[in-house]
Amino acid sequence: MRKLIAGNWKMNGQRADGTALAKTLAERARGSEAPDVDWLVCPPFTLLHLVAEQLSGSPVKLGAQDCHFEEKGAHTGDVAPGMLDDLCCSHVIVGHSERRQDHKESDELVQAKAEAARAHGITPILCIGETQEERDAGKAMDVLTRQLEGSLPAAGEGELVVAYEPVWAIGTGRTATAEDVREAHAHVRAQLKKAYGDTAGAQVRILYGGSVKPANAGELMATENVDGALVGGASLKADDFWEIGKAA
Ligand code: PEP
Repeated sequence: MRKLIAGNWKMNGQRADGTALAKTLAERARGSEAPDVDWLVCPPFTLLHLVAEQLSGSPVKLGAQDCHFEEKGAHTGDVAPGMLDDLCCSHVIVGHSERRQDHKESDELVQAKAEAARAHGITPILCIGETQEERDAGKAMDVLTRQLEGSLPAAGEGELVVAYEPVWAIGTGRTATAEDVREAHAHVRAQLKKAYGDTAGAQVRILYGGSVKPANAGELMATENVDGALVGGASLKADDFWEIGKAA
């Protein structure tokens, strides 16, 4: 499967630096030296429009970091999937651990968001992952099963990406070992096949996220069932993000 290298800019970037970063990536991805991967950037809502302009005509795709599950209405501060479609977003992150923590998002809510995104032809990137406490208690795989059972969109039309992001590895500089990642991704793959059948379950990309950097990307991306990376901090530096794509 062709790898997907996705950058989650989180709550970072203003017009000047966001535009410059998108422009650099778009230029590089158009060039003949570009690695054979799919590129995606997920800026904050405030920059989607400007970044879309920079990416126009380049192979770098645009994604958002969250969406509401309803079409429109009285939801102050929220953004509907149709609005993201209108801005040419091809992907949207749902269920990121920071949203599960900061906004108390449940699996049920994440599932509703994923289904709403697919109804608009937007591919959800569904994030799951265990905390340090859950891993130490030997419950990491159980947590992944519970999150997937609770939040996978119903079988049907539309693509899906799952991102395995151990909470203890996000923004901490600690990366899961290749063996941790191999075990978790094999488990996620088995759950996907159980939910969607062998063929459809094998086609879902599973990304790894958690302190991915140029130095560890090669080993992580070579691990079985790792179909790309969801990159936070390192996606804010064009050179690092690019090197991760090359290592994949
Ligand atoms: C993320 O937020 O999805 C992430 C993986 O962050 P970082 O790469 O900074 O750990």
